[in-house]
Amino acid sequence: MKQKYERPTIRKMNSGLMNKFGSRTDLDPVKEIDGISVKNLVSDYGSPVFVLSEKQIRRNYQSAVRSFKTRYPKVQFAWSYKTNYLNAVCKIFHQEGSWAEVVSGFEYHKALNNGVLGNQIIFNGPDKKEADLILAIEKHSLIHIDHFDELYQLIRISERINKKAKVAIRVNFDTGVYPAWDRFGFNYENGQAWTAISKIIAAEKIDLVGLHCHIGTFMLSTSAYAVAAKKLCDLALRCKNEHQNSIQYLDLGGGFPSTNTLKGAYLPGVDTVPGIEEFAEAITTTILESGFSSDELPLLILESGRVLIDDAGYLIGSVIANKRLSDGRRATIMDFGMNVLFTSNWYNHKVTVAQDAGQYTEETVLFGPLCMNIDVIRESINLPLLETGDHVIVHKVGAYNMTQWMQFINMRPAVVLIDQHGKSHLIRKQETLEYLEMMEQLPDYLK
Ligand SMILES: *Cc1c(COP(=O)(O)O)cnc(C)c1O
Repeated sequence: MKQKYERPTIRKMNSGLMNKFGSRTDLDPVKEIDGISVKNLVSDYGSPVFVLSEKQIRRNYQSAVRSFKTRYPKVQFAWSYKTNYLNAVCKIFHQEGSWAEVVSGFEYHKALNNGVLGNQIIFNGPDKKEADLILAIEKHSLIHIDHFDELYQLIRISERINKKAKVAIRVNFDTGVYPAWDRFGFNYENGQAWTAISKIIAAEKIDLVGLHCHIGTFMLSTSAYAVAAKKLCDLALRCKNEHQNSIQYLDLGGGFPSTNTLKGAYLPGVDTVPGIEEFAEAITTTILESGFSSDELPLLILESGRVLIDDAGYLIGSVIANKRLSDGRRATIMDFGMNVLFTSNWYNHKVTVAQDAGQYTEETVLFGPLCMNIDVIRESINLPLLETGDHVIVHKVGAYNMTQWMQFINMRPAVVLIDQHGKSHLIRKQETLEYLEMMEQLPDYLK
């Protein structure tokens, strides 16, 4: 086979190409995803395109459930809709047995439309509209109260419609990780959480069935979860002892990290991030040792998002052009921008090329296609020399990108699911001008 031509270059020697973890394998080309070639995915669905692996989603889910269920008898996961609420994705989690965790009326309706039973929807968030609350009461959903104004509103509504609301409160506390997330829920240390609990128990039409927390996201400390679990257990036991009110479930929220590498981290995420079984161990040991009698152990609910889907998502893109910046650095312009890769704000994603490339690498700035100075996907990454039309894969992009993406300058790309048998399915079309203008209206005088 004829070798590919590469222009000659003069380059500074990089020392330390081999480190204590061995040589760099992240430069090897990745030519297929779950058995489908990147070339075919691009020719069938265009570029850029998001690809999700159903196999990996199910594997992640099952291993997370196993980590908890082998350590604690009663466990329930609830899929965090905002992490990725494409219906195909939600349906996979629901098929696996996951409930739904939603944070808005829109997400609540999405869960209902996906066939989730009302009593298997957890309704979180500071912004629940009156109509949403009424529906949630009628459907026996688990309403997690965020603030006193919501509590008073719920008391009014439940009395007016004469129906019982099933509620939990969200609690925030000092878990030893700073800055603490104290903007959601009721504070433990200053007594606010206990006050809320007492008010709920005094209210006739509201049943306090659970306690909830969600202490942060991409949490690297397992002990923070032990502290959180301990404090929730204390509240639950106090509820039982002082108010004869048994708490049926403790919801420890989400926040477990995926194996992405945070910006500024010295070592890659795969080598440093605790596995989900370490979080499971910290949480379940704490609950089991906190003093519940064995017939009164609460159900343990988890609302994991990113850890269950990040590594099942890929973004395939293509090189538009290469150029030299005025300071001599190499720049490569990709056909996807930071508007569809929101998590590039926090992560240095693994980026691989999708075809054979030369062995020489050069420090490169990866730009997106937007006509905006801030559209930088990566300030600096070592990549082989790429040519116009070459494909790259950005790895571990399954969480948050497909919900936080922003339509700007270009249409948002298609999303493809590869099923367990290696067949691809379009699960969200690429947007069109027609779709975008559907919401617009032109006043008569401008026609
Ligand atoms: C976003 C969110 C989750 C999921 O968080 P991850 O960090 O993705 O696991 C769970 N619960 C609540 C209340 C949330 O807001």
